[in-house]
Amino acid sequence: MLISLQELELRPVQFKIDIPAGEIEYDAALKQASVLHAEGAAELVNHALNEIRIRGALSVTIEAPCDRCLETASFPVRKDFDLLYYPSDEYEAASEEEIRQTESEVAYYEGDRLNLSEILREVVLLALPMQMICSESCKGICPACGENRNLRECDCHAEAADDRWSKLRTLRAELEPRH
Ligand SMILES: [Zn+2]
Ligand SMILES: [Zn+2]
Repeated sequence: MLISLQELELRPVQFKIDIPAGEIEYDAALKQASVLHAEGAAELVNHALNEIRIRGALSVTIEAPCDRCLETASFPVRKDFDLLYYPSDEYEAASEEEIRQTESEVAYYEGDRLNLSEILREVVLLALPMQMICSESCKGICPACGENRNLRECDCHAEAADDRWSKLRTLRAELEPRH
């Protein structure tokens, strides 16, 4: 969905859209696993600067491999957003102070229209957790044999434990004052 400046000059544009999975390309590892639902409004808040404010909320489920065990995990995203867009060619005209005064996040658009799908994509990417894990208790993959430890306990544990202790001993040796 494109929102044009000409349209916004007349009135705010309300949107309520459902974007099916597959239409937006995310990061290669991320997959949209549900319809992305978004609703909100775009309005021209400053005609002189062509400053556009987009407010709304979205919900979607994203699937990605778990950072620890690499199995596919689901990440439901629900996010309110309040964004300010300036034309990329004109924003330098706006004083930095003017821009800084706002509480909203600031971004730029090119030409005379905004692509709502691209905006929603950005909101989704920023809303995803830094650490993408299937669950807090995910045990991950054994570094020695590659077994998914959520599915099967492997026999490498003794070795892994030894390794931990040896690291601790090294650390302790480093921390101890040398005489
Ligand atoms: Zn996991
Ligand atoms: Zn193992």
